[in-house]
Amino acid sequence: MPENRVVPENKPDALVVGGGPAGLMAAQQLIEAGYSVVLCDAMPAVGRKLLRAGVGGLNLTHAEPKAEFISRFTGSADVTLWLEDFDAQSMTEWARELGIDTFVGSSGRVFPVQMKASPLLRAWLGQLARAGVEIRTRHRWCGWRQTADGTVHDFETSTGQVQIRARVCVLALGGASWSRLGSDGRWRDVLSAHNVPVTDFMPSNGGVEISWSPWFSEHFAGRPLKTVTLGVAGSKTSCRRGEAVVTTHGMEGGLIYALSASIRESLAKSGVSTLTLDLLPDLSTVQIRQKLNKPQGKMSRSNYLRKRLGLDGVKSALLRELVTGSAEQDVVTMALAAKQLSLRVKGMRPLDEAISTAGGVHGAALNQDLMLNEYPGLFCAGEMLDWDAPTGGYLLTASMASGLRAGRAAAGILGK
Ligand SMILES: Cc1cc2nc3c(=O)[nH]c(=O)nc-3n(C[C@H](O)[C@H](O)[C@H](O)COP(=O)(O)OP(=O)(O)OC[C@H]3O[C@@H](n4cnc5c(N)ncnc54)[C@H](O)[C@@H]3O)c2cc1C
Repeated sequence: MPENRVVPENKPDALVVGGGPAGLMAAQQLIEAGYSVVLCDAMPAVGRKLLRAGVGGLNLTHAEPKAEFISRFTGSADVTLWLEDFDAQSMTEWARELGIDTFVGSSGRVFPVQMKASPLLRAWLGQLARAGVEIRTRHRWCGWRQTADGTVHDFETSTGQVQIRARVCVLALGGASWSRLGSDGRWRDVLSAHNVPVTDFMPSNGGVEISWSPWFSEHFAGRPLKTVTLGVAGSKTSCRRGEAVVTTHGMEGGLIYALSASIRESLAKSGVSTLTLDLLPDLSTVQIRQKLNKPQGKMSRSNYLRKRLGLDGVKSALLRELVTGSAEQDVVTMALAAKQLSLRVKGMRPLDEAISTAGGVHGAALNQDLMLNEYPGLFCAGEMLDWDAPTGGYLLTASMASGLRAGRAAAGILGK
């Protein structure tokens, strides 16, 4: 990278707004191309969501074959195109260049060896600072206007209004969840006022609401349901195997997140979505019958099911929670019901709790380089665009891939 670019007073070559992974990646491209860059963020520090993502293990990307990787994305924005320039492999190489080694976990997910995000963010910010990217925090972007001298961007800061004039600008303002980390989706009103189409925000990779009995919720909230399969009734999405977590209000976790889009779809269609749950995916109904051939004797029903089928703890409680009426009277019928439980989802948990946001700037508003068709020189990147993916490292990879594409294209304009 070039060293120490000097930014002329409020007139950088390029402005980047939003210091998440997408904005930082755009800034990296622009500075590497030799242009002066100012990056502004509303928060007191950049990369707060990235740091939060590192709590419990930063899942950088996924090591599955490219075709499968690409198939994870939905929405009107063309993620496949961005991944041509920056894919899962590029992510691990990029991290290595920052001195961060990665490893592939058993599920194919890729993590930094240290698991956390802070060493990576520290190294990245150090690299950008040495190259001359000027980061201004507590600068809230309020919009842009055309003047006789070009495009001016308006910011609110702790010391008053600031205007920054730049020939190109990359907006990377994030989605609309976890607003306390900076991405509050307030940019939507600004873009809508400029007639930029924005698809409604929806929670993605968030929990669902299920009415548990007070007893079940009190005793089992926070407990993981390990090795189960889950599907959405009436949906084309196939059932998935994995883990979900019981919460006070319903369920969350990897399996629920993977089915987010289908759950949202059926909720939108009929106001309710039914999940089909198999608590014993490794046993066929024939095997269950065979295992229950031995008499129950003096064992209690729950003890019998635990010993014979391994149905215990939260699984056993869930079975009792959901199987009622005559089925409850017969232990074999009850065990067989464990393979096809129905869970009625009332709704998604609120957007602010979700890991990511579906919806955002519509793909039709942008050209292939992520520049707004109606506003030459103004680009958008990251989670603020209309795309969606499950957790598994896809969110960070696509956010950074879009930042790279927008940053390079913005540099291309400056070079003309
Ligand atoms: C709990 C949690 C765990 C996660 N774990 C993972 C994971 O392991 N793997 C994965 O791939 N993804 C994960 N994600 C998702 C991932 O962090 C996001 O998809 C990613 O950070 C999006 O990057 P971005 O740059 O588009 O937006 P953000 O990271 O949200 O950054 C947007 C930035 O814009 C700034 N901003 C917003 N509005 C303004 C304004 N008006 N003016 C100035 N600045 C503004 C914000 O302050 C923020 O710094 C997780 C998310 C959460 C919440």
